Order: sequence, then structure tokens, then C-alpha cells
Amino acid sequence: MDSDAASSTPLTVEVLPTKKDIEHARSQLISSLPEKGIGLEQIEKHMRNDLVPGFNKPNKSPNFYGFVTGGTTPASLLGDHIAVENDQNVQVFLPKETIAIEVEDRALNMVCDLLNLSSDDWPHRTFTTGATASNIVGLACGREFVLKASVAEHGLREAMRIAGVEQFQVLTTVPHSTLRKAASIVGLGRACVRDVGLAEAPHRFDTEALRSALSSSKVASIVAISCAEVNTGLFATNGEEMKQIRQLCDQYGAWLHVDAAFGLLARVLPHTEEYAALVEGVEGLELADSITGDAHKLLNVPYDCGIFLSRHLALGTNVFQNTNAAYLSVAAGAEELQRIVPSPLNIGLENSRRFRALPVYATLAAYGREGYRDMMQRQIGLARAIASFIASSPFYELLPDDHSIDRTYIIVLFRAKDDEANATLVQRVNDTRRVYLSGTQWNGRPAARFAIATWQVQIERDLAVIKEILQEVVQRQ
Ligand SMILES: *Cc1c(COP(=O)(O)O)cnc(C)c1O
Repeated sequence: MDSDAASSTPLTVEVLPTKKDIEHARSQLISSLPEKGIGLEQIEKHMRNDLVPGFNKPNKSPNFYGFVTGGTTPASLLGDHIAVENDQNVQVFLPKETIAIEVEDRALNMVCDLLNLSSDDWPHRTFTTGATASNIVGLACGREFVLKASVAEHGLREAMRIAGVEQFQVLTTVPHSTLRKAASIVGLGRACVRDVGLAEAPHRFDTEALRSALSSSKVASIVAISCAEVNTGLFATNGEEMKQIRQLCDQYGAWLHVDAAFGLLARVLPHTEEYAALVEGVEGLELADSITGDAHKLLNVPYDCGIFLSRHLALGTNVFQNTNAAYLSVAAGAEELQRIVPSPLNIGLENSRRFRALPVYATLAAYGREGYRDMMQRQIGLARAIASFIASSPFYELLPDDHSIDRTYIIVLFRAKDDEANATLVQRVNDTRRVYLSGTQWNGRPAARFAIATWQVQIERDLAVIKEILQEVVQRQ
């Protein structure tokens, strides 16, 4: 995945469309269903000439640092085109009719391999629409596990009555917003998500508070680890703490879920001094019951693609089974293969699903472990170079206050020292249309955030643009 060799992806210097492009696109939108269609040729012209200029450019510019968006590697893009051209619906294991599900199985094996997880330990593995969906699946499995009666069978209220449980809690630190969303969807409720972080380091667990919450009687618990927190990129645990939390979960019958949407890829880093703080942050991932990952973030495949891994296939199948539809049962021929691949419709949310495995298969096979390791090193290298620049700047301040460069992953949180300049900082950077940042809040004040997530990173080239823009916006205010 040599970003120099990216000639197939012409780079632009602009990350955002102009106001005029957006207004033009808006004015040209087809306003209602035509009685007689405009035809293929016209619709292509319309999409390419009117709509595309009105899109933002996370994949066309290397300087899109909003959210954690990623890009699409050339191999994943090709995989996506081929998936769509062939309109594969990957839902039932039909080994005599299509190889698609075995491709998905191989892609998931390669994902496990990339993360140094043994695929035998993670038999419930599937591609989802994203980390939100994976968190929903994770909490649904956790909910099933922690009661001594089946929610899948009896429903939440009856299962709680049988189990003698009065309350649920999801214990976590600085969770991603989608954890609360997932808790809402699976019927636990947003209010059951409880933060048990340390006052002085909110992303880390207060182990005593965790133990005390877990020991409450008549309460069923899921522990959710924020494996790289979205504002700071900091990891909630190290290997020792993961061991300790695993023990607590075993002792109190809790489910251990890890939201590693973008933290996951720290597992490919070399175990050297330079990356020690990050490697430590993903140590003990193998102790979880379930893991959320995003492929459309750091794996750099097209939207949408998330990863879900769990150790508990029978439990997952109990929650998600769709076996009443006789016409969807496993077709003949499965027995001829060495191994039966679970039908995705019995282990995940959807029935029909797109072939989102093919881009993952393509990109992992094309670039291998080395390609991804190199990409991560370039991303972290750029993030650390930006963090150093900000830390030494008279105008800007690196956040959190005690942040050190060797803990910088792919996120750089900062603000302008001057409050007035800080209030409009993100807007002024984005108005240049050459660099795009996300705004956030830190300690009740506005803050800005770089998320370095594209495979196209070239440290020197990109740093030069960033320095220029950051200098320009403070001088121009
Ligand atoms: C992005 C993110 C999510 C949500 O992921 P989607 O793919 O947008 O659904 C959840 N958790 C974390 C930590 C994230 O970074």
C-alpha cells in the first residue's frame, strides 16, 4: 500500500467542495420521480457533473482529518466494484451455488490473523454495517450471557424475573456515544451505561469502583472497554488491567466487551519502544468475550463495514437465529466441505447482506500484514509530528494537559491558547478547504481534533500543508 504508487487515485488539494459547488448540486437535485426516466446517459452526467463536485473528499485528498473516516485502498475499491457488479447476497451458506460465503469466512480469518487473534477462539465472527451495529450485537450477546435465563427466548422482563435480576448495568469509561445508543436499542436503556473512570484520568478504570459496582446484588453487568477513546485516542487499559478486569468479570458473571472500533489496528504495530504505550493499550484483547471493530475506519475499506468477534458461537446463534424460514436452511453440499460456515443470517442483525467481505479480502491479500503495519506507522508518525508541532507552538496547546507524544496514536486533540481564536478555530481551518478537522469539546471548552486515518498519509508532504494552515489561521484572525 505504497502511497506514492497511488496514481490511480488523483489527489486534489481541496478537501471540501466550494459553497458554489454545493449550491449548484442542490439546485440540480431531481426533485421528484420522473414519469419517464431521464435515462442512463443523463443520470451519469448528472451524478458526475452536478453531484460529485458537491461531495466532500475524504478519499480524494490526503488532508481530510475529520472524525475517523479512513479512505479506501485501491484494492478495496476494486473489491467493492466487483462485489456490486456481481450483486452477491451473503446470508446463507450455499457452497454448491456460490463461493461468496467462503470468501467472507477467509476474510474474517485474515482479520483475526492481522490482529494476532486465533480464529478458533472467535467462532462467532461476522461483518456488520459498522461499530454501532457491532456494539448492538455485543450488548445483545452480553445481555443473553449475564442472565441465568434466555432473553432471546423469554424476553427481557420475563428472563429478569426468572433470573431474579432487577437491574442491568454497562460499566465503562468515556464510552463512544454509540454504546448508549446500543443500550437503548437492546432494551437495557441509556441510563444503565455507567462511567467508572478515574477522576484524574477519566479514560482509565477506577478498579475499586468497578469491583464495587460488579458486586451489587440483583444486578447483571456488562463491562465495556473503550479501546481507544474517540476524543483523545487514549486506551482504557493495559495488559495487566485487562487481566484484572477479566478476573472480576469471571468472579461476578459479567460479560466483557471491547469497543476497539479504531484501536484494533494498534495490534499490527511492532513491539518496539516507540509504540510501547499503544501496544500496551491493546494487550489482553484476547481476554474479551466480544470485540467491536470498524473496517471502514483504519482498514480503509469502503463504507459500510464493521467487524464483530465473539468467543460464544452457540450463545450468539441463540440470540440471532433465523432458522424458522425453511427456505433459508443450509443447502446440500455443506457436508462435503471440511467445515460448515455459520450462515450470517443466524449470527448477526441482517437477513440479506451485501458482500462487504470482498473489499476486506482484497485489501488484506493485496497489502498483507506489512502493508498495514507500514500504514499505521505512517499515520502515527504524522500524528506525532503534528502533536510535537502543536506542543512547541506559542499559539496552540496540546490536550489533554498531561499528554505525551509517545502516547499519541492517530488522534491529536488541541486548542488555540487564545479563547477568541479558539472559538472559531475549526471553522477557520475548514474554510481554507485544504485541511478538514472535527470540532469537539474538552473540559467544557471548544477543541479541535485531527484524526489521521487514511492509507494515503505521507508524513513530510502532509505535515507541510498542516503547518502552513495552522500558522496561517492564527495570523489571519
Ligand atoms: C466510530 C466509532 C463507533 C461508531 O462506529 P460506526 O462505524 O460509525 O457505526 C463506535 N465506537 C468507537 C470507539 C468509534 O470510534
